[in-house]
Amino acid sequence: MARQCIFCPRPADSKEHLWSGWILEVFKSRPELQQPIRFSKDKTTARWIDNPEVLISCVCQSCNNGWMSDLEIQNRPQMLPMLLDQRTTLGPQQQKSLARWAILKGMVLEAANRERDSFYNNEERSAFKPPLSSIPVATTVWIGRFSGIGFHAGGTGIFRPLENVPKAIHGHVTTIVIAHLAIQVLTAHVLPMFADRGRISLGQNPGKWDMSLLECWPIFGSVRWPPPISFTPKGANSIGRLVFRWKVGTDISK
Ligand SMILES: [Zn+2]
Repeated sequence: MARQCIFCPRPADSKEHLWSGWILEVFKSRPELQQPIRFSKDKTTARWIDNPEVLISCVCQSCNNGWMSDLEIQNRPQMLPMLLDQRTTLGPQQQKSLARWAILKGMVLEAANRERDSFYNNEERSAFKPPLSSIPVATTVWIGRFSGIGFHAGGTGIFRPLENVPKAIHGHVTTIVIAHLAIQVLTAHVLPMFADRGRISLGQNPGKWDMSLLECWPIFGSVRWPPPISFTPKGANSIGRLVFRWKVGTDISK
């Protein structure tokens, strides 16, 4: 029996590429763009997919060919220039659309890994699709530029204590690098007893994040990509440091 679609009650009867046709076309036309990015850190600290041709089977045809396809069509005009390293200005609507694209990929990526419980819950996923089109609360999305070229898509879980309650905050970080565009999504779930705290700072590894990332969600006016500092293949501002930006202290997610 087919699994249920992660966004609606229909069976997951669609086997589709994780990346839409237009992105795969870019990869095919420029094979150097699909080099997996090598990290110095141990792979076991995060899960990711190196191969752009990966297939997924966790959504139904109706979702895939409907609102998910619409989101791809909306994002192509603004994403393509950034993939190809061209300066781009994103208005509020474009930022929201790109944020939704990245969150969608994060939800699908973690559903592709059946061994683990998913971070995003049913309420978040069903509210995410139209007509509600809600972005999960306590979500931030950033974009940056990778000076190299390559491909990476992965997610990782993080935990933080609050007032001596271990694991009071459970976060999920999705990082996607396609050619020159880097996107990172962080969503935090906070235990109900801390729900009235408002925006909680999670603490991150040191880095020039203010200079190397643009906040895409929540929206504060237009943003101009690329940011002043780019991520590099190696060194103090490496793309690996972006992937492991939130991995501070002991990893207790395993
Ligand atoms: Zn569906």
